[in-house]
Amino acid sequence: MIAAATQDMQVHSTFSDGADTIEANVAEAEAFGLVELCCVDHVRRDTAWLPEYTAAVAALETETPLTLHCGIEAKLLDTAGTLDMPDGPLDGVSWIYAADHQVPMADGVHHPDEVREGIESGRYRAEEVVAGLLQATESCLPQHPGRIVIAHIFSILPKIGVREEDVPLQLIESLAQTTYDTGNRIEVNERYRTPSAATLAPFVARGVPLLMSTDSHRRDTIGRYDHCLRVVRELSEAAAR
Ligand SMILES: [Zn+2]
Repeated sequence: MIAAATQDMQVHSTFSDGADTIEANVAEAEAFGLVELCCVDHVRRDTAWLPEYTAAVAALETETPLTLHCGIEAKLLDTAGTLDMPDGPLDGVSWIYAADHQVPMADGVHHPDEVREGIESGRYRAEEVVAGLLQATESCLPQHPGRIVIAHIFSILPKIGVREEDVPLQLIESLAQTTYDTGNRIEVNERYRTPSAATLAPFVARGVPLLMSTDSHRRDTIGRYDHCLRVVRELSEAAAR
């Protein structure tokens, strides 16, 4: 289990949609007393600023007392686990945050509004949509061993009218096992207040590293937790029982 509130493993900067620079975010994390920070910015297939971004993080790494990591966040595009990010070795990037920003299906990514309406009208079955989301996430893991962080999993569910507690435990168990087997990680995310302790329990039981993230897009929320601390407490209590 991680030490609560000493790390923030997803903070965005002006390289994508964050309001503050990497330098300002690092200064805030230091001032707030964190010991570990992961810079994460949103990429797409055609993102061209990765060399500048990784160089900026690497330069700060030599100056800050923080343990500083460099991450990118990419959305899952389909049930094959394709990620919306540039091709190539992604030099300087430690971790790839795989995110359910839209709904990955076999034929590509769908907007959550379209999926919600499709479920309501009977065009899609909620069970199949959920299974597809889990399949997309699980499929990306062996393609990037030791490098994936499963980002704010199930943040898409409220947007398509599905409850996290209705996701079959068997699918979560399978995802947790594959995450462990591929040396990957999962985060608990303050911004989306997801996932729940119940979802995380099968991961923690297998020894999958759990990262704590605010998913900050402004420096003044870096390191400030509520949901994440409660989830970690619930997991600790469950482990002690
Ligand atoms: Zn995200």
